Amino acid sequence: MTQDSLEPRVVPVLVPMPAEAPYSYQVPPGMTVVPGSVVRVPLGPREVAGIVWDGEGGGVDPRKLRPISAVFDCPPITERMRRFVEWVASYTLSAPGMVARMILRVPTAFDPEPPIDGLLFTATKPDRVTPARAKVLAMLAEDGGNLAWSRSGLAHAAGVSLTVIDGLAAQGVLKPVQIPAPALVPEPDPSYGAPQLTDGQRKAAEALKGKIGAEGFSVSLIDGVTGSGKTEVYFEAIAAALQKGKQVLVLVPEIALTQAFLDRFHDRFGAKPAEWHSDLAPRMRERVWRQVAEGRVRVVAGARSALFLPFKELGLIVVDEEHDPAYKQEDRVYYNARDMAVVQGRLGRFPVLLASATPSIESKVNAQSGRYHLVHLPARFAEAAMPSIEAVDMRRVPPARGQFLSPVLIDAVRGSVERGEQALLFLNRRGYAPLTLCRSCGHRFQCPQCSSWLVEHRFRGQLICHHCGHHEAKPEACPECGTFDHLVACGPGVERIAEEVDAAFPDARTLVLSSDLLGGTKRLRLELDAIAKGEADIVIGTQLVAKGHNFPGMTTVGVVDGDLGLANGDPRAAERTFQLLSQVTGRAGRTGKASRGLIQTYQPDHPVMRALVSGHAETFYHQEIAERQRGQLPPFGRLAAIIVSGETRAEAEGHARAMRRAAVAHDLIDILGPAEAPMAVVAGRHRFRLLLQGARNADMQGYLRMLLAASPKPRGSLRVQVDIDPQSF
Ligand code: ADP
Ligand code: ZN
Repeated sequence: MTQDSLEPRVVPVLVPMPAEAPYSYQVPPGMTVVPGSVVRVPLGPREVAGIVWDGEGGGVDPRKLRPISAVFDCPPITERMRRFVEWVASYTLSAPGMVARMILRVPTAFDPEPPIDGLLFTATKPDRVTPARAKVLAMLAEDGGNLAWSRSGLAHAAGVSLTVIDGLAAQGVLKPVQIPAPALVPEPDPSYGAPQLTDGQRKAAEALKGKIGAEGFSVSLIDGVTGSGKTEVYFEAIAAALQKGKQVLVLVPEIALTQAFLDRFHDRFGAKPAEWHSDLAPRMRERVWRQVAEGRVRVVAGARSALFLPFKELGLIVVDEEHDPAYKQEDRVYYNARDMAVVQGRLGRFPVLLASATPSIESKVNAQSGRYHLVHLPARFAEAAMPSIEAVDMRRVPPARGQFLSPVLIDAVRGSVERGEQALLFLNRRGYAPLTLCRSCGHRFQCPQCSSWLVEHRFRGQLICHHCGHHEAKPEACPECGTFDHLVACGPGVERIAEEVDAAFPDARTLVLSSDLLGGTKRLRLELDAIAKGEADIVIGTQLVAKGHNFPGMTTVGVVDGDLGLANGDPRAAERTFQLLSQVTGRAGRTGKASRGLIQTYQPDHPVMRALVSGHAETFYHQEIAERQRGQLPPFGRLAAIIVSGETRAEAEGHARAMRRAAVAHDLIDILGPAEAPMAVVAGRHRFRLLLQGARNADMQGYLRMLLAASPKPRGSLRVQVDIDPQSF
């Protein structure tokens, strides 16, 4: 149907709702839209932003449809992004509208940035040429009136007061014009601070640049120990992509805390990348979004949600620390950003780089099979040596009664402090103690809404649930038996370790770093900075100190509880613990000094501890991969979870059982459960889980769709959520 026929045109518009397909809207006469246009449309009593989708929205009488209200003044969402939305929706079994919602998640919606008022030279002569005016005219003569100046910029450049500028404007010598708002960040310069690479690094960089040059889709895995120069090497690939006029996305876990990464980028490219994460102020989000869409921002460093930015000409995605569990989103649309980055590269036909010192088993297997190109960096840069890693056998050298640090670890910390170096004590547990109980009656403080213990936070004087945020003041008497002063803290959190450290090292400067610190991201950034500058002797921290930071003075790293992550019975526990502890101990020895990593453990013979101590990561990977293969676990088999939740246990369990009964047998897919989910109750909702385990070639999505269609509709408080490739299984 053409524009000029009498019938109004109809187009499909994808709106940010859990609807399976786009809705049809009428295009009012005189309005031009193309697939990808971002529009405002009425939806029920409201108006929402939507994306004009492909195809004709036919089959309905256009006069019965509501018209599009407005077209936003921003570039259309590209074909690549539209196919990406469909792909993600289909893979994760989400409504396409909910995936589109992640693209449209911009606060006040796409107002163009107001242009800035500027002044342009008209070559008119002023009535009188004072010495000050002469200075301005001399400045302006140089560019012949081609350049718009801001009022204050011109005054400053000519060295005159604003009154002089205003006087010239009043006489028409300068005329007001509008100039576009300046670019958010200056353009990175690919050849700005190019480093002298080592031979190994140069070979790696050449291989990656080859991929950029060849264009087309490819995935490379940069596997190299912490400090080997992975970042330096992928910066070369970024430079190559920029030289080809492409935009680049670098995904970094916890971008809000990686100020150091932005500084390094600046050193290499002479400009910072634009940042993208959930802490950005709304106005800033909007500006980044728009300038990415316009192609004015060339490089974005972002959290996983940056995958849904509307890049105009994306030509490279780098996923740093590709193994990091933070890439998995478990909210509405469940997806793994690392995997979806690879999908985007395939759809957009460009290279994707994954970097890690401890790659995921999945990526390792893909590199071994040749699906991914392997780039290996075996040694630390320059004189920096790997720390020597020791297991501290807690059965043989236990801590003093009621304490958590073995004398061996305390001695190592003392050595560091005495040499004027830094020590880090790592414990992945916030707060003071993970459990509080009454010594008289045995009462344990549990969250009223979750199946978890309340964690004591002594600095705040509260008992807090880490799953739903429930908090209460810590009472003096037991609520069960009424006995006073019999409540005991069981087990350590970072606050309790800090107490022990303060007692052992009363003169040392200690710092506790944990994500629940008051003051949020800003304060954390400052403290990370302070540590890097050597302003603390002993740091006690949770996993946020493990990620990517470079602390030059850190020569001792102690892991307070090396067994913590191994206890939960999850088949991924060994992999995760290996990755986390490698990363934590890798904080030590980033400069020339000798350094140590000490891991307190009750199982020094565990394969994870052996791999860490011996440095034989490959042996560990080999065993883990063999085990996954035997168990037909990812990536040798496929997994999906269905979580059924409801306000009562009976409802949730009943519905999960009904779904199980609705399932038909399948040759390649087994269903396990329903069983209580790993967290059985969260925020008052009871959760049951069905686990689907399939062969690698099984059509998991197809089977899930069939199962969902055959199951009874969830009613009332019931909710059903599909989790493809669940993190824990
Ligand atoms: P990774 O990303 O593997 O942890 P980095 O790229 O961060 O390693 O390198 C570790 C440190 O060594 C950084 O401080 C980096 O600036 C420095 N470095 C690595 N390679 C070089 C090089 N060729 N020239 C100068 N400095 C380098
Ligand atoms: Zn809770």
